[in-house]
Formats: sequence, C-alpha cells, structure tokens
Amino acid sequence: MALIIQKYGGSSVASLELIRQVAKRAIETKNQGHQVVVVLSAMKGETDRLLAMAAEMAAGPEAREVDQLIATGEQVAVALFALACQAFGEKAKSFTGFQAGIQTDETHQKARITAIEPGRIKTELAKGRVVAVAGFQGLTPGRDISTLGRGGSDTTAVALAVALGADTCEIYTDVDGIYTTDPHICEKARKMDRISFEEMLELSSLGAKVMEIRSVEFAMNYNVNIHVRHAHQAGRGTLICEEDIEMEKKPVTGVACSKNEARITLLKVADRPGMAAKILGIVSASGIVVDMIIQNQSAEVDPASGRAHTDFSFTVPLSDYAKAMELMEGTAGEIGAERIIGTDNIAKISLVGVGMRNHAGVATQMFQTLAREGINISLISTSEIKISCVIEKKYTELAVRALHEAFGLGDLPDTEE
Ligand code: ADP
Ligand code: ASP
Ligand code: MG
Repeated sequence: MALIIQKYGGSSVASLELIRQVAKRAIETKNQGHQVVVVLSAMKGETDRLLAMAAEMAAGPEAREVDQLIATGEQVAVALFALACQAFGEKAKSFTGFQAGIQTDETHQKARITAIEPGRIKTELAKGRVVAVAGFQGLTPGRDISTLGRGGSDTTAVALAVALGADTCEIYTDVDGIYTTDPHICEKARKMDRISFEEMLELSSLGAKVMEIRSVEFAMNYNVNIHVRHAHQAGRGTLICEEDIEMEKKPVTGVACSKNEARITLLKVADRPGMAAKILGIVSASGIVVDMIIQNQSAEVDPASGRAHTDFSFTVPLSDYAKAMELMEGTAGEIGAERIIGTDNIAKISLVGVGMRNHAGVATQMFQTLAREGINISLISTSEIKISCVIEKKYTELAVRALHEAFGLGDLPDTEE
C-alpha cells in the first residue's frame, strides 16, 4: 500500500462534472490498495472572481481580509469533492488548510508554510477515508487564515507529501506534462519525460506557471519527485526529479516567458559610491523584489552639471510597479537622477538548460535569433543555467516560437517508450 498525494488544479475541477471525474480517479487509486490525499485548487476563475470583488469593495484591500475571502474558493472545492466521493459510496472527508494542520508565517497573500501537523489527516486515512485538503491556505501563528500566493496549491501538495512521507506526489493539470515551452503558445512544444528540479525551478521562476516556484523549491530541498500529469487523460506525464547524465546533453531544455514585470530606468544618476545600494535599498525596504538590474556608466562627464553619471535600470513585478515608481519619484532629487522612465510594456524571454554549463554560444544564438525577427533587447541577465532578455511585450509569442525553433526543441527525440 502506497500513500499518494494527488493535486488537481482549477481547470481540472472547473465544474461539478469535472469534480465527479476527479473523485472517480481518486477512488480508483484507492481501490488499487492505496491511501489517497487529494489537494484541490479553487474551481477555475474563482480566485480571480473573489479578488476582483475585494478590489471593487475597497481600494488596496487589507491583505488579512483578502485571505479570509479567497481561501473560500478552495474550501468550496474540497467540500464538493468529498460530497462527490460520498455520492459514489466512498468514505471521504474534507479539510481546510487549518484543519489539516498547515501552519504558515504571518505574510498574508504570500505566506510560507512553516510546519504541518498532519495528525487529523493520518487518523482519517487510517479509517479508510479519502482525505481532501484545501490547497493554497494555512493558519498564521495569530490563528488567522493565510494564503500562499497564486498557484500555491502546488506547494500545499508537495509540503503534504513531505510531512506525510508520501510515496508519490502527483500534480494533475490541464496539460499532460512539462513541455519544452508553454504548449498554448507554441504548438511545436514537446512534452518531456523528465526534467531536473533545477531546470523546473528556473522555468517556474521565469514564468512557466505549470508548477508554482515554491513547490519546486520544496521538492528539491526534500528530494520529493513530482509527477505532472493530465487530470482527465491517461498518460505517463513528466517526472520532476534529480538531474541525471542524460539530461546534461542538451544545451537548452526549455523556453519560458513572463509578462508580469515592469522596468524602471533612472537617467543620469550621480556616479558615486552608494547610489545602487540607495536605490535598491529603498525598493527592498518596501518588500518589493527586484529582478534584473543593469547599470551603465557614462564615459563622459555631463557638460551641464560637470559631473559623471550612470543610467540605472531594474525590473520589478508588475503588481509592485506603481509603488516602485512612486518610491523612485520621491527620491529622484536625493540620488541626483535627472529623469525616471517606467514601462510595463515589456516581457522577459528566457532559455533554461543545465546543458548550458558545457555549451558555449547559447547567448549569441539567442541574440541572433531575436535580431533576425527584428526584436530589440533592452535588458539581459544570465546565470549558470539560464539566459533572460527583456523585450517589447508584443513580441513575446513570436520570440518564444523563434527560440523554440532555433534551438531545435521540438525536434529532440522523445525518449518515451
Ligand atoms: P492548474 O490550474 O492545474 O494549477 P496552471 O494554469 O497553473 O494549472 O498551469 C498549467 C498551464 O501552464 C498550462 O495550461 C500551460 O499553458 C502553462 N505552461 C506554461 N509553461 C508550460 C510548460 N513549459 N509546460 C507545460 N505547461 C506550461
Ligand atoms: N486558487 C489559487 C490560485 O488561483 C491557488 C491555485 O490555484 O493553486 O492562484
Ligand atoms: Mg497552477
């Protein structure tokens, strides 16, 4: 008998009929002799609907109340799931995050799981029940409901897999695995049999929402393999696991894109020690996470002011853009910036692959490919296994397809079967 965690995303539980189908799948697994814990997201569109209502009710709604509101989406889904199981004659019980013993820190809407006390889950499993746990939520030390950030049900699933010592952690979604790029953007995207934790972590952090980034972090830290599969189709899916020698052969594994960032540029900042620390210090003190940073030191002294200067650009999450602009405008005088320019008309396109460690020329090929399509690059950042370029938003899909083609990602032989 194995203990299996099955997480179903919003589109997989979008209607009562789909919830019934998911219940059937969980029951089938149980009938094969296993214990099953099911983690559910809210029904498709529900979290967005609740967030829109909060925004309509109050400008800048308080995060605690937003959590109180949006956690209901998952609660509805698990209760309906348990009822579906019972209608099929199966014993089932649903839990909110709190009832399941999921504890988090106090950071509403971005809470981190700090501990799980899975006593009640274990008791119900021992009674032969299917257990359904509401994803995306937990309880703060002050006993308030918290949520884990968008896509956070993936993290609930992996964290439960760790806490319960599960044999398998399965993430069921609306695609049949992890692809070389978003299959809804590029029809030539190819499903992979396996992908390393490290690559998945990069793809997630660079915009591939198929797995939420913290869930991959958790899985990597605790070495829990994740099996990504289609919720309503059979198939082997993709295994997210430790890197192996086979994986290292390809220079690029996947292409990711994100339209969720904005760029801020400070022109003619005084060129003296401490300026970068000052600019970024102001931003980070407000809890805004800066992603890409570029500073250009001018070779010439500004004839008007008679002093040396630099141009300083950085990107922030789109949701923090307005706040970051406000902060910068408030400090322009202090840092000697002549002008501040911001835009959210950007997208970040990234190539990811552990094979980059051993292959030269990936960046050049990426830049050439974008140039051939007439796409201008405004920021570049690289790490050992990824290269990202910021481009104009309207070119996102074109860039993804061109890079996917240029690196032959659709053509690589599929090793399945
Ligand atoms: P769920 O509701 O099940 O959590 P999500 O919508 O969060 O599902 O994630 C699934 C979506 O992720 C897919 O429909 C697909 O458009 C997108 N996606 C982005 N990048 C990839 C990728 N590399 N492989 C598979 N899907 C991807
Ligand atoms: N329902 C939440 C969201 O839409 C959590 C999740 O789907 O994982 O972000
Ligand atoms: Mg998701």
